[in-house]
Amino acid sequence: MNKGTLFIVSGPSGCGKGTILAEVLKNDNIYYSISATTRDPRPGETDGVNYHFLTKEKFEELIDGNGMLEYASYCGNYYGTPRKPVEDMLAQGKHVILEIEVQGALKVMEKCPEAVSVFILPPSMKELRRRLNKRGTETEDVIERRLEQAGNEIRQADKYDYVMINGDLDDAVRDLMSIIKAQELKKENSEYLINEVLYNA
Ligand code: 5GP
Repeated sequence: MNKGTLFIVSGPSGCGKGTILAEVLKNDNIYYSISATTRDPRPGETDGVNYHFLTKEKFEELIDGNGMLEYASYCGNYYGTPRKPVEDMLAQGKHVILEIEVQGALKVMEKCPEAVSVFILPPSMKELRRRLNKRGTETEDVIERRLEQAGNEIRQADKYDYVMINGDLDDAVRDLMSIIKAQELKKENSEYLINEVLYNA
């Protein structure tokens, strides 16, 4: 069995990462890493499903105990990836998707050079503003901060292995699945296939 691949997926808040990932995650062989955060849950979010919602103290305890693969401070809150589930799932041969912002993504690229990184662009800044307004879960002030942050993040998209756009949802889902498939078909990951053809009658 091959070890799974670690995928890093970033894109500005409101670019539609969550909607694309919800489709891609219907595939049983892909595990979505549930992050920890100190931000408050949004209506409809559940602890342990969308995030592990932690106090600042508890989050810092995890950092000190080396329990985080990466973490970053984003718009005034901590966000981080609990290390153990990621390592366990990869060892079991599953792909793991980290949906994380750029600072954390750059740290993971450095620590795990074999990870495959994907940046998701919105079709335009105007459309991003429209989507954030439509979501209606943030105040005007938070939306402005997130848009400013979005510009900073998009300027770093060229540090990722792949850059895709989320205009049409079906196209975007297909694009991300193609990246995952291409990774599976790389020769480094195909040793078992070659052996199967050679040695299984
Ligand atoms: P939101 O508050 O909209 O759920 O997330 C804000 C940003 O934090 C998003 O760009 C999201 O991808 C990122 N994020 C979520 N979890 C993590 C994490 O574990 N680590 C890092 N570095 N960023 C995260």
